[in-house]
Amino acid sequence: MVEEFDLVIKNGRIVDGTGVPWFKGDIAVKDGRIAKIGKIKERGEIEIDAAGKVISPGFIDLHNHSDLTILAYPNAESYIMQGVTTAVVGNCGLSMAPLNPDKVDLLKRYVSPFLVKGFDYGWDWRTLGEFYEKVKKQGTTMNLAPLVGQGTVRLAVKGFDPGKPSKEELDEMKALVAQAMEEGAFGMSTGLIYPPGSYATTEEIIELAKVVAEYGGIYATHMRNEGKRLIEAVEEAIRIGEEAGVPVEISHHKASGKPNWGKVCATLRLMERARKRGVEVHCDVYPYTAGSTTITALLPNWVLEGGVNKMLERLKDKEVRERIKQEIEEDRVIGENFLKAAGWDGVLISQCSIEEYEGKTLEQILKEKGTFDSPYDGLFDWLIEIKGDAAMVLFLMDEEDVKWVLSNPLSSVISDSWVTAPYAGGKPHPRAYGTFPRVLGKYVREEGLLSLEEAIRKMTSQPAGKIRLQDRGLLREGFWADIVIFDPKTIRDKATYQNPHQYPEGIEYVVVNGEIVVEQGKLTGKRPGKILRRC
Ligand SMILES: [Zn+2]
Repeated sequence: MVEEFDLVIKNGRIVDGTGVPWFKGDIAVKDGRIAKIGKIKERGEIEIDAAGKVISPGFIDLHNHSDLTILAYPNAESYIMQGVTTAVVGNCGLSMAPLNPDKVDLLKRYVSPFLVKGFDYGWDWRTLGEFYEKVKKQGTTMNLAPLVGQGTVRLAVKGFDPGKPSKEELDEMKALVAQAMEEGAFGMSTGLIYPPGSYATTEEIIELAKVVAEYGGIYATHMRNEGKRLIEAVEEAIRIGEEAGVPVEISHHKASGKPNWGKVCATLRLMERARKRGVEVHCDVYPYTAGSTTITALLPNWVLEGGVNKMLERLKDKEVRERIKQEIEEDRVIGENFLKAAGWDGVLISQCSIEEYEGKTLEQILKEKGTFDSPYDGLFDWLIEIKGDAAMVLFLMDEEDVKWVLSNPLSSVISDSWVTAPYAGGKPHPRAYGTFPRVLGKYVREEGLLSLEEAIRKMTSQPAGKIRLQDRGLLREGFWADIVIFDPKTIRDKATYQNPHQYPEGIEYVVVNGEIVVEQGKLTGKRPGKILRRC
C-alpha cells in the first residue's frame, strides 16, 4: 500500500497561529507543505500521535542575529530545540554584507564580539546574496529571512567616519541597500547606538528607508535610545516610517534604567496613535529583564570613532579617561549610559577574548584585580587587556514593563540572540535557549498573562505578517509545513544566566519544510532550512 502523505500528525490540539481558540484535529504533510487539516483517515509514511499535545506553526523569531554564527552552527541547535523554524536575521544595523573588500578588517572588528572564536569565516563574499549562497551551500536547519544592516552599509562606504555623507556617498549607500533588496532582503535594520550606524542623522536614514519602501520592505530599528530619551527615540522611528512610507518594527522594546521604568506605557500609546494615522508600526520583546550587547557599548560613542583599535589607543590617554568618567557619572552620554543604568554589579561578562572572565560581573573582576577603588581606571585597563573584545549581559529592565509590552497586541515575541550550541562555551544570555518556551511556560501557564493562542499568534502569524511572508506562520493547507508539537503542561525554559547552555523541556517534535528536525525531544541533524526571499 502506498501512503497518501509523508507525515500525519493525529489527535492534537491545533493552535493555528491566528489567535482563535484551539480545536482538535489532524494535520497531513506532503512534499514539504501542509496538505490537509481535519479528520484524516489516510495513512502517512510517518505518523505521530499528538494526543494531549499542542500542534502549532513553527515559531518565527523576528529579531535574531544568527547570520553571524550560522556558518559555524548550521544545525541551529539552540533555536530548533525551542521550536524556532524561521529567524529574521541581520538586525540592529549589523549584517554580514555588503562587504567592501577594502574594509574587511573594519567589519570584522565591528562584529567580532558575536563571531565564533577560532572559526574561519573565509570573508569571501561581497553581497548579501553571495553570503547567503554560502550559507545555503553548507545547509541550515532553520529558515533564514535576511535584513540588510544600515551600519554595515555605512561602514562599507565611509568606514568609521562620523561625518555627514557627501551626495555621492549617500547615493552609494542607497545603491547598496537597493542591491540587497534586489537579492531578496526583507528590509533594512538600524542599530542607532552602535557606531558607525549611529553616526547617521534621521534624514540620512529616511533617504535609505525610502529605497526599502520602494521594494515593499520593512524598517526594523534598535533605536537611538531606550532609556532617558526613549520617547524621543520612538518618535524618530515613527517619523522615519511616516516620511519614508515604510512599515516600522521597533526592536526589543523596553525601558532601560530604573528612572525610565514605566515609560513603555507612553511609548505604546504613541505607537497606537501613529497607527490611527495610518503609520504601520509594531514592536517586539524578549521575556527577560536583562539585555545583552557588546562591551564597547559601555563607552560613549565618540570613544569608538575610527574603530576598536583607535578606541584602545584612546583609552591609554589620561584626559580621555577623565572625560569618559565624567560623561558617565554626570549622565551626559549621548546614546545609552549602560554603566550608570546597570551599575558595576549589573554588568555580567557573557563572552570574552580571555575566557576566565566569562560569568563574572564587572565588580567581581575589578575587585579580584584590586582596582575597584578607582573602577574607571580598572575598567579601561581591563578593556585594553581584553582588546575590547567581549559581550555582556546587562540588568536594566523592570519585570512589570516586560509584561506590559508582552501583553500588548502590537508586540511579537523575539529572542535577540544568535545560534549557539552546548559545546560552544561562553555564557550567552539565556534567551538563546529559552525565549519561546519561557513565554509558554512562565507567562502563559504559570502567570496567565496571555492566553496560549495569543502567545502563539505573537510567535507565528504576527511576525510572518510583518515581513509579508505569505506561506508561513499559520497552519493552513498549502502553507509550508513548519510545525511544533509541544506539551502545554510541561513546556518550560531551563537556561539561566550562570548555566545558559540548557535546552528547554516539553518540545517533542519540530518540523521544518516537512522534515522532522526534532524527534521525541532529540535533534535529528537534518538541514531542511531555506534562505527565504521577499517576494
Ligand atoms: Zn539591538
